[in-house]
Amino acid sequence: MSSINKQFSVHWLTGQFRDVDQEAVYRRSIGSRVRLETALALVVAALIYGMFAIADYQILGLSREYYRLITMRAVVVGLCLILAVLIACRHRYSHETWLHAMPLWILATGIILIVPLRPESLSTQVTAVVVATMAFYLLIPNRLTVVTFASLYLSIGFLISAALFVDAKSMGVVRVALLLIMANGVGFFALLRLEKLQRRQFFLLHEERDQNRQLLGEIAHRELLEEQLRRVAERDALTGLNSRRHFMKLAEALLQVSRVEKTPFSLFMIDVDHFKRINDTWGHSQGDWVLARISEVCAHSLRPTDVIGRFGGEEFVVALPDTGADGALRVAERLRKRVAELPADEEMRELRLSITIGVAVAHGDEVDLQALITRADRALYVGKREGRDRVVACGEGSDAENEDSGLQ
Ligand code: GH3
Ligand code: MG
Ligand code: MG
Repeated sequence: MSSINKQFSVHWLTGQFRDVDQEAVYRRSIGSRVRLETALALVVAALIYGMFAIADYQILGLSREYYRLITMRAVVVGLCLILAVLIACRHRYSHETWLHAMPLWILATGIILIVPLRPESLSTQVTAVVVATMAFYLLIPNRLTVVTFASLYLSIGFLISAALFVDAKSMGVVRVALLLIMANGVGFFALLRLEKLQRRQFFLLHEERDQNRQLLGEIAHRELLEEQLRRVAERDALTGLNSRRHFMKLAEALLQVSRVEKTPFSLFMIDVDHFKRINDTWGHSQGDWVLARISEVCAHSLRPTDVIGRFGGEEFVVALPDTGADGALRVAERLRKRVAELPADEEMRELRLSITIGVAVAHGDEVDLQALITRADRALYVGKREGRDRVVACGEGSDAENEDSGLQ
């Protein structure tokens, strides 16, 4: 369907798309509907044609002409029914022009052959030819070119047959010819208009679908970009931990839950000791490597429900829901030890790695995360002052708390 929306252009005389691919796509799209409608129309047309055997009987009685006529009708009806079945089952029908043309030519031949077999009822036959012409154009769904040739064959064949077998004067050849020209003209232009309209409708529908598909593609692309942006904003590039902003969001939510559920909540501020020296001694990239290892160790030493983030530089922050002071101190001590035990890089054999952790525990219905961070930070400051490589809790009457009041 991709090649359909080039631009809308149909042939003025055939009503078909000028572009061969566009026309093929259109035909394929209407294929199954046209097959069934054609088969049905053919069955109806054949039955109507067959039913005229009653009129033949009324006019001819059980004469030789009647038997010839009824045999001819039976052949036409039989062929039409066979073709109807063939068309209904034929999946390549839209490509097979002969199959489009054949039933029309058989019906036309059947109508033409009535003239010599029943010449006295010519006026009725003229009406039948006009109705058949209209049916060719409008009832049996088919291509304009195929229909036009079949209808012209019917009209010309009928006129010749009438001229040959019926007294030309009594028939009024010119009058009948004019009538048939009129029927063909009306049928042709009606079908031409229909063909053009159907193709325009098809074209517009596909144009709209293409635009929708494009729009959906753009939306999907935009969503992907948004997702990538979100991931970049949420993750710290060096350590892969939560960014500070994202940590704050997650920790805020955990703190609210703890308050509602009345469960304890703790928070760590972790700072790598003398990190500047590591940078100065081994360079920044080694410093980066150390930061990545420390964050790895810390992240793996926590429960899945805990949230860790990089607060900035060589500082990390951890939120521990459902964790009271004792539990928090235990976890902090474990982190400190694991970092101290981190195997050093080949080049950094003399590296003695340590961290200081400030711990703050939320008071009963504390909701201010920022206040909790400040308390943990102050505990950390105390730890630094007291010699680093330690865990300091910010508790009632502790140094950190006093530091708190001192700083206020
Ligand atoms: P203290 O024990 O008091 O914390 O001393 P410190 O040297 O760790 O603290 P200080 O604040 O003096 O230095 C922190 C250093 O961390 C300074 C900065 O260059 C370095 N740093 C911050 N972010 C990064 C980073 O992403 N990679 C590297 N390699 N170094 C960083
Ligand atoms: Mg620091
Ligand atoms: Mg430091």
